[in-house]
Amino acid sequence: MTDTNFEIKIPTDNDGYILFKCPKCTNYFKVKPSDVEDDGILQIFCPACGLSSENYLTDDIIELALSKVGNYANNLIFQEMKKWEQEFSGSGLSFKAGKKPTEEYEVPIRSTIEAMNVRLYQCCARTAKIKPLLEMTSSYCPFCGVKDFGTE
Ligand SMILES: [Zn+2]
Ligand SMILES: [Zn+2]
Repeated sequence: MTDTNFEIKIPTDNDGYILFKCPKCTNYFKVKPSDVEDDGILQIFCPACGLSSENYLTDDIIELALSKVGNYANNLIFQEMKKWEQEFSGSGLSFKAGKKPTEEYEVPIRSTIEAMNVRLYQCCARTAKIKPLLEMTSSYCPFCGVKDFGTE
């Protein structure tokens, strides 16, 4: 157990978009990882409220990360106790490690929540997936924060 990297893969949908959730207004939207990782993109704006946030991780991802870390820590403690059990044996003292901790179920991440439409933001020539309702009214470009008025 030396691998302390928790790799959490965020699944993309069939079109290659990943699901984001705005922590400010809890709106869901989707963007392409290639757009998010682009050096030219300094921050991502929520298409619904137009504000930018530190991260847009969905609850699924946060929960998965937490249970992964939790399982890892529990296992580490158990390994340590197992060692003690062996060291103590025959010394007259007794120490029991107990049962191996049950692993918390790591919930798979959903990549689809509801139907979203692809919207092309002319200002940045990039696309995002947003809720149909948002598309009909107005939304903000996730890449530059400029307000974009519905479908022409
Ligand atoms: Zn928002
Ligand atoms: Zn833009």
